[in-house]
Amino acid sequence: MLEDQIQQLQAAALKRIEDAPNMDALEAVRVDVLGRKGSLGQFSKEFGKLAPEERAAAGKALNAAKEKLESAFDARKQAFDTDALNVRLESEWIDLTLPAPGPRPGSLHPVTQIQREIEDLFTSLGFAILDGPEVETEYHNFDALNIPVTHPARDMQDTFWLTDGNLLRTHTSPVQVRGMERLGPPLRMIAPGRVFRNEEVDASHEHTFYQVEGMMVDRNVSVAHMLYFMKTLLSAVFRREVTIRLRPGYFPFVEPGFELDIQCLICGGCGCAVCKQSGWVELMPCGLVHPNVLHMSGIDPDEWGGFAFGLGLTRLAMMRYAIDDIRLFESGDLRFLRQF
Ligand SMILES: [Zn+2]
Repeated sequence: MLEDQIQQLQAAALKRIEDAPNMDALEAVRVDVLGRKGSLGQFSKEFGKLAPEERAAAGKALNAAKEKLESAFDARKQAFDTDALNVRLESEWIDLTLPAPGPRPGSLHPVTQIQREIEDLFTSLGFAILDGPEVETEYHNFDALNIPVTHPARDMQDTFWLTDGNLLRTHTSPVQVRGMERLGPPLRMIAPGRVFRNEEVDASHEHTFYQVEGMMVDRNVSVAHMLYFMKTLLSAVFRREVTIRLRPGYFPFVEPGFELDIQCLICGGCGCAVCKQSGWVELMPCGLVHPNVLHMSGIDPDEWGGFAFGLGLTRLAMMRYAIDDIRLFESGDLRFLRQF
C-alpha cells in the first residue's frame, strides 16, 4: 500500500533528522526527502495509477507526512541555531557596564629614577642638590676647572659651541664651580643633570646624556673620605656590597686623580663580555680637588681641601638594567619606557 510506504519513509526521515550531527547534514536530509526531486515528491507520480478514492487518502497521508517532516526539520534547525548563538555569545561576551580602562598611568624614566635615588641618598648624608644652566660660559665649563685652551675637550669636535661664544655644557662640573663661588666652604654638594657632547652617535655614544657630579670641601679631606662616599653611593645604587679599586688617572681639575673601577657585577670578576674579560668596569673619575680650582673659586687651598667625582647616570642605568644600546634612553619609544 502507498500509505504504508509513506509511513515508512516518514519514520526513516524523522530518524535521520534526529540523528543529523550538524546543519549541513540536516540540510542534506531536507533535500533528500522534501526537495523538488526528493523521495516524498516521487510518490505523487504514483497517484495516476490509483483509483480516485484511494488517491484522496494517499494525498492526505502524503501532506500529513510532509507537514510533520517540515516541522521536525524546523525544530531541529532551531536547535542548531540556538546552539551556535550560545557559543558566540559565550565567546564575544562584553560587560558594557564595566568602567572604561582610561589612560595608562605613566612612569618615571629609568635615568630619573636613579637620579632621585642618588639625590635621596646624598641628602641623607648632608649634601645639597645644586642645579646649573645647560648653556654655559667657556669660563665655567673649562677655565675654572683648570682645563687649558690646549685641552682636546675644547676642540670643536667634542663640544657644541654657540655663535655667541657660549656652549652646551659638556659635563656637570661647572655646577661645582658655581657652588663653590656662591656657597663657599665647608661645602657638600651634588649636581645631577643633562650634558651634551658632539659625538658620533652609536650604541654606546649619545650626544645627550646624564651625569651626576659631587664634591665635598672641608678641612682635612682625604682619599679615605672619598672612598667611603663612593662605596656608599655604589652599594646603594646596585643594592648590594660592591668591590672597588682605584687607578691613577689624569683629569685637569683634580690632583691626585683616579679612575674608580667596580668589580663586574655581571660575572663577579671572572671576566665576561661586559667587562671585556677584565673583571672590572671603569665607572667614575674622581680625585682630590686641584688647588688651582679651589683658588679660582675664591677658596684658600692651604686651609681647605676636597674631593670630587663624576658619574654617568645614563651609564649607571645601562649597567643596572643591562641595557645594551644608549640610544634607547632618548628615543621616546614607549615600548622601552613602559618597562620601568
Ligand atoms: Zn664581567
